[in-house]
Amino acid sequence: MKKEIAVIGGGPAALAFASFVDTSKFDVTIYEKNKALGRKFLVAGDGGFNLTHSENIEQLINRYTPVSFLDGALREFTNNDTRVWLENLGIPTFIGSSKRVYPEGGIKPIQVINVIIDKLKEKGINFVFNKTWTGWNDNELTFDSEESIKADKIVFCLGGGSWKVTGSDGAWLNTFIDQNIETIPFAPANCAYKINLSKDFIQRNAGEPLKNIAASYGKRTQKGELVITEFGIEGNAVYALSSEIQPILDQGKSVYLEIDFKPIFTETEVFNRLEESTFKNSTETLKKGLKLSRVQVDLLKTILTKEQYTSNKKLAHWIKQFKLEVTDSATLDEAISTTGGLCLGEIDSNYQLYKKESNYCIGEMLDWNAPTGGYLLQACFSMGALLANHLNTSSDS
Ligand SMILES: Cc1cc2nc3c(=O)[nH]c(=O)nc-3n(C[C@H](O)[C@H](O)[C@H](O)COP(=O)(O)OP(=O)(O)OC[C@H]3O[C@@H](n4cnc5c(N)ncnc54)[C@H](O)[C@@H]3O)c2cc1C
Repeated sequence: MKKEIAVIGGGPAALAFASFVDTSKFDVTIYEKNKALGRKFLVAGDGGFNLTHSENIEQLINRYTPVSFLDGALREFTNNDTRVWLENLGIPTFIGSSKRVYPEGGIKPIQVINVIIDKLKEKGINFVFNKTWTGWNDNELTFDSEESIKADKIVFCLGGGSWKVTGSDGAWLNTFIDQNIETIPFAPANCAYKINLSKDFIQRNAGEPLKNIAASYGKRTQKGELVITEFGIEGNAVYALSSEIQPILDQGKSVYLEIDFKPIFTETEVFNRLEESTFKNSTETLKKGLKLSRVQVDLLKTILTKEQYTSNKKLAHWIKQFKLEVTDSATLDEAISTTGGLCLGEIDSNYQLYKKESNYCIGEMLDWNAPTGGYLLQACFSMGALLANHLNTSSDS
């Protein structure tokens, strides 16, 4: 007789789990509070739709915080496995210049999800919509409809705490707290940050990118891009530092990001170029000699004193270590992803809750973090695949 698996929440983690679980051994039902699956996955197309990132596995693993948590899952189901899986479903992918992986030919998230869902239907996965899980009653799961169900294994894929409109409202946190399962309040990650620069500066530069820069905070440095927005800054170079800067902002303190405008040059090389310049003034040298963008030059002019701007030594230093004060982050709901959720100490290496046997938790509901660029979905896919493989092969299944 087949065992029953109840999957609660129907986002990417659930879809990956259901794709790889063995339906000759298990009857699987996904319970989703919305009337459709994967609403957060559907908004992923808004700002560039990255299915995974193509960098080598060792580098990939290092993008996640805490670094060792996803090691096993990412090695078991790699970024390349994601591409092969999707290719076999009829979703070919390509690697962009940033090494991010996109679906080919402008395939939209809705098409990707429909292909996955069709495959799940083919393999006999059941779906129940408009059903919000509300808690445990002994060994039963309760729902808002006042029905309760029993299952042999329960896989929670409840998501993080941003973009509530997609269903991922984080309301489940209290249900876990009631069971003495340790959780951490959600905090925004991969979000816009407010900067201490004048309204005039923002108005002059909103929408302007700072390309090919490197942003650092503490021990972490991220090369990439920042964009000046009405709110402040966003972009992969700062998203990658979320885990370091958010805790400081949470204490009501500012954070000074160090931005390297010219990562390909040392400070001495920048200095020499300034010294040897034949352009008529510093601004010309910055724009034409060092090829700094208009917004980079504006940043230097806005922050530096006249004495600093006209001293080649000081100017070279600031070009390599521009200090940008970050004062706040965007709201939780606007964040692309969230940290917090279920404390990692509550689960074993197969994501089973220590305090509730046969209950598993995967995806963004767990307290890990990664920058944008395909890493978030990859983690959800890898956790889904690892758990499915574990249940497919474990002796009590
Ligand atoms: C604007 C935006 C763009 C993004 N772009 C990318 C990108 O390009 N690349 C990338 O890698 N990542 C991207 N992400 C992040 C990615 O979408 C998420 O990390 C991913 O969706 C998390 O998957 P999940 O399955 O853990 O949770 P979710 O996708 O959040 O799914 C959780 C599901 O659980 C359901 N649920 C919650 N509570 C209950 C309950 N009590 N009962 C029943 N159901 C419940 C929710 O309705 C939801 O459907 C983006 C996110 C946003 C917001």
